Amino acid sequence: MEIRFSLAEEAFRAEARAWLEANVPRTRPARADLAGRREFDLAWQRRMFEAGWAGVSWPREFGGRGASLMEQLIWYEEYARADAPEIQTTFVGLNHAGPTLIACGTEAQKAEHLPRILRGEVIWCQGFSEPNAGSDLASLQTRAVVEGEELVVTGQKIWTSFANIAEFQELLVRTDPQAPRHKGITWVICPMDAPGIEIRPITTLTGDHDFGEVFYDGVRIPLENVVGQLNDGWRVAMATLSFERGTAFLSQQVRLERHVDELVALASSVPGPEGGRRAIDDDEIARRLALARAEVDAMRAMTYRSISLAARTGMPGAEASIIRLFFSELVQRIDVLAMDIAGAAVVEGTDGRIGESYLTGLAQTIGGGTKDIQRNIIGDRFLGLPR
Ligand SMILES: Cc1cc2nc3c(=O)[nH]c(=O)nc-3n(C[C@H](O)[C@H](O)[C@H](O)COP(=O)(O)OP(=O)(O)OC[C@H]3O[C@@H](n4cnc5c(N)ncnc54)[C@H](O)[C@@H]3O)c2cc1C
Repeated sequence: MEIRFSLAEEAFRAEARAWLEANVPRTRPARADLAGRREFDLAWQRRMFEAGWAGVSWPREFGGRGASLMEQLIWYEEYARADAPEIQTTFVGLNHAGPTLIACGTEAQKAEHLPRILRGEVIWCQGFSEPNAGSDLASLQTRAVVEGEELVVTGQKIWTSFANIAEFQELLVRTDPQAPRHKGITWVICPMDAPGIEIRPITTLTGDHDFGEVFYDGVRIPLENVVGQLNDGWRVAMATLSFERGTAFLSQQVRLERHVDELVALASSVPGPEGGRRAIDDDEIARRLALARAEVDAMRAMTYRSISLAARTGMPGAEASIIRLFFSELVQRIDVLAMDIAGAAVVEGTDGRIGESYLTGLAQTIGGGTKDIQRNIIGDRFLGLPR
């Protein structure tokens, strides 16, 4: 591993830090206010765009910052340190659809969509999962038939985050049911206001409606919206997923590090499990806090190593799955620790953030590939275990 910052990179850090300090919005919309979150996220994206900070990892020719891997690392560290807004409703556009269009889209698709994503004008959602196609994505059944210059789509998606506030969807459909499973799939840009689309919100454990089911009843999409070739969608989808664990993930790690520091402070101010003494005076709480700090440091070291490798080889390695798995399980361990420290305050609702974090954290080992699937990838590609 070799992480050293040059003078130019330190100057980049100073510029990023100064801009973030001056521009990060201090108030945030409530979690339950989806329409408010949409407007807030788009306005924040526009602000970054106008200052030249939108799409730090996107190439300059497509309007991005064209930052090197080291600069991206610095940006996301500073981003999290400044407590800048977590990328949520704009995530799919910036980290999935945009990079996929850059890699596989036509000139017309790039010209139409990339500027709108960067300028914070549109929200995208992801229509990959179906009731019987989650981990086993290649078994997806939503059908699309070519009629003239259009695809006619019929079927159902599920767990589509932000479906009800999105303009566009990256949609996977089966266009050749006779072909082997991984063939005969097509990646298409679906306008969410097309006639025949019905969205039914799903209520999550926290009572929010962040995702929903999407039903397609004879939805007509122009063939020019196909990204890559007809029946070549699996290759395009693998490109999409490869962008998911980009450098943006780093800011989540830095946030977790800060969260552990906040827990140390909290444990110094609330009574311990036996009552009376401070929580931090309890040996077991102190041991778990120390372990959490060490584990966050270990994860950062793994990430630095991975970025340093990618910077030299130009290829993200299979260790991304190790880091992702470690992160998701660590988040959950830290959430349980936070509940144990906050104790009755969580139940009595005086510290709602800890309870909410515990509930939303349960999804960490499911979304974007479950922990079991990550273990399969590690066993297969890293350890060379037999299938
Ligand atoms: C917060 C959140 C947001 C999401 N947003 C979106 C979105 O916007 N768009 C979208 O398309 N999807 C989204 N998803 C769906 C997500 O991609 C799927 O939930 C995930 O891929 C798992 O699929 P599944 O839920 O069908 O579970 P299943 O695949 O049915 O898995 C059920 C259980 O079986 C285990 N399992 C399955 N196969 C194997 C195997 N081969 N080996 C070992 N164990 C296995 C799994 O680990 C799991 O424990 C989201 C999910 C969450 C939690």
